[in-house]
Amino acid sequence: MKKVTVLVPCYNEEEALPLFYDRICQTISALQEYEWELLFVNDGSKDRTLQIMRNLHSRDSRVSYVDLSRNFGKERAMLAGFDYAGGDCMIIMDADLQDPPELIPQMLACWEEGYEDVYARRNSRGKESRLRRFFSLMFYRILQKTTNIEVLQNVGDFRLLDRCCIDALKTMREAERYTKGMFCWIGFRKKEIVFDRCDRIAGKSSWNFITLLGLAMEGITSFSIAPLRISTFIGTAVSLAAFVYMIFIFIKTLIYGDPVQGFPTIMIVMLFLGGVQLLSIGLLGEYIGRIFNESKHRPTYIAREHNGELIK
Ligand code: UDP
Ligand code: MG
Repeated sequence: MKKVTVLVPCYNEEEALPLFYDRICQTISALQEYEWELLFVNDGSKDRTLQIMRNLHSRDSRVSYVDLSRNFGKERAMLAGFDYAGGDCMIIMDADLQDPPELIPQMLACWEEGYEDVYARRNSRGKESRLRRFFSLMFYRILQKTTNIEVLQNVGDFRLLDRCCIDALKTMREAERYTKGMFCWIGFRKKEIVFDRCDRIAGKSSWNFITLLGLAMEGITSFSIAPLRISTFIGTAVSLAAFVYMIFIFIKTLIYGDPVQGFPTIMIVMLFLGGVQLLSIGLLGEYIGRIFNESKHRPTYIAREHNGELIK
């Protein structure tokens, strides 16, 4: 019998988790031809999420859980899930039921057809502010333009991955992760299905504008060095312009002499160049920071407990 793992990273989901469990049980009870594993990763929740997981585990042998030592963020919590998943394939879902479990049979059918990465594209994005939607679209556009790989728009982490994809993802252990990009990077045979994203069933989203901006920066700098190249281009263009201007001033001085003038010009040029330089240094710093973080070779996450046993 083929084994399917459902991976659910959870951060402060005490309200949503029991509801999620009930809904997913309904779905999988209709799919008896598979062996199921519900793998919950507790990403350092501050509420009763871990107790709920322990309870479910003691009541239901299909449930297993991993407890991380603190909040590492969803990206790393997912990596922990990849490491502990035992299935022949894995379905990644959010605990807040924004990803409808009713889509699972359809995903499994595609998997049986031989697709190795079945991802769900959102038809609608659920309840969300207009500003967030605008920034999200902008981000995808920039990412698309600057990276060589195709990062899919309106595709979240909700997907089914074959064992081969999980093993590939497990080898990618960088500390600063942009998993959405990695799904695209690894390749394999992909299949798209479309769904309507629902609203969060309980609790509240743990993302805010700053964390999303961080994720966007992460996405761009971890998949592309285009920003560095752009600053090189700007540098070249500015130097060329400066050279032409130099010749102009030289000739003008020869003809008309050199009365001291042009304070506004000097100020404008200075401020403009200063700005461009600072921006480029900031960009460089962004990449150096990443090198610094990766060069420490720390484990990507630390797990405390797996199914009731402490991890040594
Ligand atoms: N999540 C996590 N660690 C975090 C933040 C979120 O494991 O630091 C989980 C969260 O419990 C949920 C999923 O990631 O299952 C998606 O989070 P959320 O619903 O807050 O994000 P959104 O749907 O707003 O993108
Ligand atoms: Mg959500």
